[in-house]
Amino acid sequence: MLELVELRKSYGSLDVLRGVNLRVYPAELVCVIGPSGSGKSTMLRCCNRLEEPSDGQVVINGQDIMRSDVDVNQVRQNVGMVFQHFNLYPHLNVLGNITLALRQVQKKSKAEAETIAQEALAKVGLAHKASAFPSQLSGGQQQRVGIARGIALKPQVMLFDEPTSALDPELVDEVLQVMRALRDEGMTMLVVTHEMAFAHAAADRVIFMDGGVVAEAGTPAEIFENPQQERTRSFVGRYM
Ligand code: ATP
Ligand code: MG
Repeated sequence: MLELVELRKSYGSLDVLRGVNLRVYPAELVCVIGPSGSGKSTMLRCCNRLEEPSDGQVVINGQDIMRSDVDVNQVRQNVGMVFQHFNLYPHLNVLGNITLALRQVQKKSKAEAETIAQEALAKVGLAHKASAFPSQLSGGQQQRVGIARGIALKPQVMLFDEPTSALDPELVDEVLQVMRALRDEGMTMLVVTHEMAFAHAAADRVIFMDGGVVAEAGTPAEIFENPQQERTRSFVGRYM
């Protein structure tokens, strides 16, 4: 389980996160929606310490990862992240991108890392692209490699920051399909997205962030069909 407790983050005098509380239970898919600048990416980046929170707790399976004696590399193996712009290494082929952390961080042998990478590639439907370079792949394929790289480390939680928003519309579905399949396998996922149809159909719960706090949380039906807060209503009203 991933739990954020009164999470705060300020940049100078700008309070971006103003006490975020949320839980993602095992095997849940939780979608985070909300206006630009509401702190969604900052919140996500605090979950694997890409960003250092100013205050509050990030608890992963009972461990407060903000403690000074916690190994950040260990945390990043347990908390996978998929980025908007894929962030693949252009000079490495697909297999190289996926095996890098397996070899360097998890100290697997080349053969073992490649076996794990091939399994992860099969899960995203790209077993045949192991030796391709990122520049030879479509955006949707690159993002599926990004997902394969994350799941290869067998993390306890996967974080996604607008994984489809850099894609041409016709490539969005193949990535969302992979995410649904992961969820069906029991992966725990926290997904920042502007894909309201996906959040509505695939999420177990939806979090609406506004002004650095969780303004409203509920089932997709509650958030999209019967929002309680005026600001939620106004935000989702633009999509429904
Ligand atoms: P979007 O939907 O546009 O991606 P978001 O909800 O992800 O928005 P964040 O990227 O978390 O929003 O940013 C929240 C606020 O924090 C914004 O006002 C942003 O300008 C500010 N911010 C983010 N990172 C930094 C930084 N490194 N230094 C200063 N301000 C920052
Ligand atoms: Mg963002």
